[in-house]
Amino acid sequence: MTSKTQTLLLLPGDGIGPEVTEEACRVANHVAPDLQIETAFFGGVSYDHFGTPLTDEVMSRAKQADAILMGAVGGPKWDGVPRDKRPEAALLRIRKELDVYANLRPAFCFPALAGASALKTELVEGLDIMIVRELTSGVYFGQPKHIETLPNGERRGVDTQSYTTGEIRRVAARAFELARGRKRDSKFAGVLSCEKSNVMDSGLLWREEVTKLHAEQYSDVKLDHMLADAAAMHLVKAPKDINVLLADNLFGDILSDEASMLTGSIGMLPSASLGEPGVPGLYEPVHGSAPDIAGKGIANPIAAILSLEMVMRWSLGRPDIADSIFAAVGKALEDGARTADLGGSMSTRQMADAILKHL
Ligand code: NAD
Repeated sequence: MTSKTQTLLLLPGDGIGPEVTEEACRVANHVAPDLQIETAFFGGVSYDHFGTPLTDEVMSRAKQADAILMGAVGGPKWDGVPRDKRPEAALLRIRKELDVYANLRPAFCFPALAGASALKTELVEGLDIMIVRELTSGVYFGQPKHIETLPNGERRGVDTQSYTTGEIRRVAARAFELARGRKRDSKFAGVLSCEKSNVMDSGLLWREEVTKLHAEQYSDVKLDHMLADAAAMHLVKAPKDINVLLADNLFGDILSDEASMLTGSIGMLPSASLGEPGVPGLYEPVHGSAPDIAGKGIANPIAAILSLEMVMRWSLGRPDIADSIFAAVGKALEDGARTADLGGSMSTRQMADAILKHL
């Protein structure tokens, strides 16, 4: 453990965000009482108070924290708000300003939940994929990006897919490093890099740069390439073949959502977004604010608790605590702990209690 006090900035957000992060906070207080946790408004609740979904003050506190744990943002209440003031604008700003370019999304199937997957049990039993998605470039950010009116009166929407060699290499390096720590004996045992090099120049550059970086620095890690559409098929045909899946922003978005459905419920899935060393990591459940169940106390807190597990592992240098949180979630599920999304009737608090019992 380091001697400097570590700070976690908690941004509960909207809807079920505050409900699930409260439970993650209880777990954090239990396993790491020395961790300093600060809380701030973020998303719709910040807009309601300050007229902006993310104030400069909170942005600057985020930059100074060791890690940031977000709940979720958004909801119908803010549907009519201008786009640049919507809760989701806060997410894009914080990711961009921290330049957290590597989005890690594990798709892990807890043994007790293998039967809850959309796929046959034998296809997902033991499933453990880490998806590394490029998060701050590509078609979501490339310029030009607009809707224009053509001389003939038709309208045209334009988005630009663009990647530089540096942007490709830094996220690929993350994937290779992760694969080094995740030895597997599967068909694609190292990094499986996905693009559309058959039809896209950015895809061709992606494949060339990943191949070059591999030869220069990571030849000890197995590297395979696959077209993104073929990878989408492989994920439902033989997902256990895959260890670390690397993809750009757009394909990574789609492939990680697909992979998440293999594991049971969206309420189980954490994520981490990492930048250069020294930049605080940004952690959040994959799910949104779930307005349909907000305020009922029935949301599954596991995605938030596993996001805390990733905080401990990737930002705070406390892998032993991370391991114990992960094991406690597995044991609670083995005990039969289930919230409604998993087919049970436990409340958010009861599920967290079932996990805390094993810590
Ligand atoms: P959602 O993830 O909020 O909900 C989808 C479905 O999954 C709902 O039926 C919900 O009840 C269920 N669900 C989600 N999390 C759950 C949990 N922890 N436990 C049990 N059930 C859970 O997605 P949506 O309905 O498309 O979006 C709702 C709002 O959230 C929108 O405003 C959207 O913009 C926002 N959103 C925010 C984020 C984020 O903050 N990162 C991500 C996605 C969506």
